[in-house]
Amino acid sequence: MDPDQARAALAGERAETHALLTTMAARLTSVVDAGADASSDDEHDPEGSTLAFERGQLVAQIERSKVRIAEVDAALERLDAQTYGRCENCGADIAEARLEALPAARLCITCASKASNRRW
Ligand SMILES: [Zn+2]
Repeated sequence: MDPDQARAALAGERAETHALLTTMAARLTSVVDAGADASSDDEHDPEGSTLAFERGQLVAQIERSKVRIAEVDAALERLDAQTYGRCENCGADIAEARLEALPAARLCITCASKASNRRW
């Protein structure tokens, strides 16, 4: 993939993820505030447990977004090091279509499907 095109795709992904992160962090703050306003007795308050559930979901989403941003940053570093687009496992070129769909991909499709527990 053209490095400029890759950089633009990564910048877009980073901005998008960052915007999502900001939205979720604001949502988390309001959920926490709502929880503080509501009864502290979560067990007997259905709204309280819904809030606790939502809080858990948001925390998990925020964690995932942070990982995603870290992956995008790592991909930008690989661009600078001119190793971008190369599979970290087998050294093969990562298919262009895969990089378009997942600009921060570390692995080629073959290695990624073998390492099914690793999304990147
Ligand atoms: Zn590979």
